[in-house]
Amino acid sequence: IVRVRGIHKRFGSLKILNGVSLSVGRGEVVCVLGPSGSGKSTLLRCINHLEKVDDGLVVVGDHTIGYEESGGVLRELSERRVCRQRTSVGMVFQRFNLFSHMTVLENVVEAPVRVHRRKRGTVEREAVELLRRVGLAEKKDAYPDQLSGGQQQRVAIARTLAMKPDVVLFDEPTSALDPELVGEVLSVMRGLAEDGLTMIVVTHEIGFAREVADRVVFMDGGVVVEEGAPAAVLDTPREERTKAFLSHVL
Ligand code: ATP
Ligand code: MG
Repeated sequence: IVRVRGIHKRFGSLKILNGVSLSVGRGEVVCVLGPSGSGKSTLLRCINHLEKVDDGLVVVGDHTIGYEESGGVLRELSERRVCRQRTSVGMVFQRFNLFSHMTVLENVVEAPVRVHRRKRGTVEREAVELLRRVGLAEKKDAYPDQLSGGQQQRVAIARTLAMKPDVVLFDEPTSALDPELVGEVLSVMRGLAEDGLTMIVVTHEIGFAREVADRVVFMDGGVVVEEGAPAAVLDTPREERTKAFLSHVL
């Protein structure tokens, strides 16, 4: 459902992605590991076109992100059309950035109503169901600052799911949390994986990658160094760079 083909990205003279390719099937969970600065966040930002790639293509479902095809020719889309396209790709960040003046329920309801122009009543019913899925149904009328970091991140996940994305990208969703709150967010993510959500997860949580991922991708220096089944990559890596990285984090 996601095909990343040979993408390159540079910032000024700095080459950040040097030909990254990655395919993710429907319902698949792919965990991306790699050292700081290896380009993991940039890869996710390119997948939902928060960054424009210099070369290569990102295809989600049957559209090429940032472009439309007409008569076999790819044409760049306007920023407004890209925003619309981007709603098929959800993103959950390290910092959850909830709207502080809105309740939990309003946070979840806002985008589908405003961007997709759906009926508030229907969206609210779905939002309550999503909050139940992330274990926060009873907090629907609370404000973000009344919640713990782990609860806020779970609201952020519900908010992303409310847009019914084809794939959700997670960028280190637990690394800003106090250690005792990490587990509750990971267990919500594990539930979503079991329910068949397509996910690309940048994480340093090796245990989560081992248990939940269908595939693990190791990146370094803007390229995919190695990928495969979790046990293969994590326990018997082939590449020296993977071995060196794992020996630091395990
Ligand atoms: P981390 O594990 O620390 O989050 P990462 O693998 O996510 O690292 P990226 O955030 O993708 O790494 O960054 C890769 C490199 O690109 C870094 O050297 C960073 O400084 C650089 N970079 C990222 N965004 C920009 C930008 N907007 N302008 C200039 N350089 C950038
Ligand atoms: Mg990052």
